[in-house]
Amino acid sequence: MSKSPRAHGPCALCGFDRPLCQSHLLPKATYKSLRARHPGNPNPVLVSQHAVVQTSWQMHAPLLCEECETRFRVGGEDWVLANCWRAAGFPLRERLASVAPLYAKDGSAVWACAEVPDINMDKLCYFAASVFWRSAVKTWRVTPTATTSIDLGPYEDQLRNFLLAMAPFPDKMALAIRISNLARLIDTAAVPVLESKAGFHEYGFHIPGIEFRLFVGSKIPAEYSELCAMKSDHRPLWMLKRADIESIKQLVDIYGRGKTLQ
Ligand SMILES: [Zn+2]
Repeated sequence: MSKSPRAHGPCALCGFDRPLCQSHLLPKATYKSLRARHPGNPNPVLVSQHAVVQTSWQMHAPLLCEECETRFRVGGEDWVLANCWRAAGFPLRERLASVAPLYAKDGSAVWACAEVPDINMDKLCYFAASVFWRSAVKTWRVTPTATTSIDLGPYEDQLRNFLLAMAPFPDKMALAIRISNLARLIDTAAVPVLESKAGFHEYGFHIPGIEFRLFVGSKIPAEYSELCAMKSDHRPLWMLKRADIESIKQLVDIYGRGKTLQ
């Protein structure tokens, strides 16, 4: 039996005309990790803007060449997937527990991670940037009938150049990274969605235990650079008392509205 021919075309990241891999919006290992914790139901829970989906559907498409797939994997994915919440524990949060926070009160805290051994902020940020960019560069199919995408407008190409190490992190972007403080973590992953567009755009996604927020536009308040994991000298990680509860409420709300559940 002959194998189906591999897609060929310009790689969305480097632009070279090469054989293309089946690239994923969220790393394939995220699905494996979620699935491993649902032995009774092999399909992981995945959240998008309009649906909570328990699905074996993996969002992939011919997008990147082998070299750029490796660039994403080595640049961020490998480290992040080894340090997010897994069946064996939550290495990133366990490491934070041994570091004195810059600020802590009533269940909220912020840590300065620029100099913390074993916390690789560059890889955490690169991973986040790569997922936001992947979501912007094409429309992805979440289920056989639903799609997802975000619109970064003129900033999409700036983010692409950052991912190629040809430019610094875009000036009109700020990236905030929050660590879950729940004793029992929400066992879901969410694709990037538009959270707000009041003056500037705010996008978010999460993988088990870690939420990423990207603020985009010329009207981002100046103080946002202080919370940015790329721009602040502190390279902060956040834990916010109410944020996990709000996430759960949103999840329940989507379920309650009877959206797609497959
Ligand atoms: Zn490429």
